[in-house]
Amino acid sequence: MNTKVWLVGAGPGDPELLTLKAVKALNQAEIVMIDDLVNPAVLEHCPSARIISVGKRGGCRSTPQAFIHRLMLRYARQGKCVVRLKGGDPCIFGRGSEEADWLGEHGIDVETVNGITAGLAGATNCGIPLTLRGVARGVTLVTAHTQDDSSLNWTALAQSGTTLVVYMGVAKLADIRDGLLAGGMSDEMPVAMIENASLPEQRECRSHLATMQDDAMAFALKSPAILVIGEVARASTQISMPLLLHA
Ligand code: SAH
Repeated sequence: MNTKVWLVGAGPGDPELLTLKAVKALNQAEIVMIDDLVNPAVLEHCPSARIISVGKRGGCRSTPQAFIHRLMLRYARQGKCVVRLKGGDPCIFGRGSEEADWLGEHGIDVETVNGITAGLAGATNCGIPLTLRGVARGVTLVTAHTQDDSSLNWTALAQSGTTLVVYMGVAKLADIRDGLLAGGMSDEMPVAMIENASLPEQRECRSHLATMQDDAMAFALKSPAILVIGEVARASTQISMPLLLHA
């Protein structure tokens, strides 16, 4: 039996940001295993599939990752069409490659389908170009949350000259600010904090490096949110389609 598991990105929230390939995989799915950050609205594309919530808030307290691995393997070995659906892109801070490697070691092929990652969607929906000629020559996606609580090389990041897009940073704003300031970044560096990117409840808080934590508190910024740190966060031109989205 040549069973395959689909590792699919559900995008940042807006169901219209699903790829056609993701929709095709969902259409064929018999089992769909979803994370917390997946917008349930995307499940309209798999009305007859069995939906299994395996997010951290989904009831898997002990060794959740091992449990997810075993569940995928069990259904795949039963010959079921399994879709592992993850928020954003499955391989951007999504453990997608870990799951694919584990399945591969157990003889199961995996096909990965990209999703639009939250950092891209959030910036675009706020009119922020992550790269900009003469302003930002690149973009760095970084997580503020590390498994072993080790510190990032903030100095290298501060001096990279790239736009920084920080995931999982809401609880770490003070560390991020202190690290970047110590690394030589200007306290005036523009920052955009974008909550629930691409969803109707999207909110955006503009600030600067030195004041971002206070501003986030006053704004009651909540997860999921991404931070865009860099000169590009000064831009305010609406280059995207939020008006169409939320009309
Ligand atoms: N694989 C996902 C990221 C998962 S890590 C992706 O590619 O987008 C989880 C973090 O992603 C959250 O803590 C938050 O920083 C970010 N995130 C996910 N969805 C988001 C959204 N709709 N708006 C803002 N940030 C989001």
